[in-house]
Amino acid sequence: MSGKPLLAGNWKMFKTSGQAREFFQELLGRLKPFPADREVAFGVPFTSLEAAVQAVGGTPIIIAAQNVHWEAEGAFTGEISAPMVAAAGAGAVILGHSERRQLFGETGAGVNKKIKAVLAAGLRPIVCLGETLEEREAGRTFEVLAVQLDEALAGLGGAAPGALDLAYEPVWAIGTGRTATPEMAQEAHAFIRKWLAEKISPAVAGATRLLYGGSVKPDNASQLMAQPDIDGALVGGASLTVDSFARIIQY
Ligand code: PEP
Repeated sequence: MSGKPLLAGNWKMFKTSGQAREFFQELLGRLKPFPADREVAFGVPFTSLEAAVQAVGGTPIIIAAQNVHWEAEGAFTGEISAPMVAAAGAGAVILGHSERRQLFGETGAGVNKKIKAVLAAGLRPIVCLGETLEEREAGRTFEVLAVQLDEALAGLGGAAPGALDLAYEPVWAIGTGRTATPEMAQEAHAFIRKWLAEKISPAVAGATRLLYGGSVKPDNASQLMAQPDIDGALVGGASLTVDSFARIIQY
């Protein structure tokens, strides 16, 4: 991995713009000086994007959206595009989260179109993948990851190495308090790294940050981050309170 480790929060459908402002005021007070050897991002609801961008102004914190439509504009009632997110001042977009795949019918082909739209808007995609418990227990983890990688990254061979981050999030570990052991996470990350080297290029494999997500907490972050192929964390529940996320940033 080149670059700094990325600690990214995913707020899901939590926090109004006012709550986002309060959160960042408290977080920035707590992170003084801001750790120079970490990159920090937050996926916030669309309605909190501008407030969050203003609240972190002048700091290295990146504000992200949690989804976009793949078209830049059009008759798509209720949708938000990547250029709109960029105009709100965001720097990244979380894509392909398992909640979107499971609850909102997100497909691999859709994730692929969204990655291309996000890159075209000058934003950084943080692309999630991971197996369900049933798939893991059937011994199909690597097969599932390979299919998700194939679908999500189709036609992206020409993208600059390091243009996107991948987040391995075993579905059974999200919001369940059940974390993959560091060894299980490392094994999956090593598989993803090898897939990137073989199917895209060694340069892309070396430059792509691989985040782990699934019940990351202050007390397990350092063990996970110590694994050679874990370059960051995507954190749901524990990113909602300043104390727990500040401790994860300072793992
Ligand atoms: C997530 O939503 O991406 C996530 C990993 O959630 P949690 O940390 O709560 O398991």
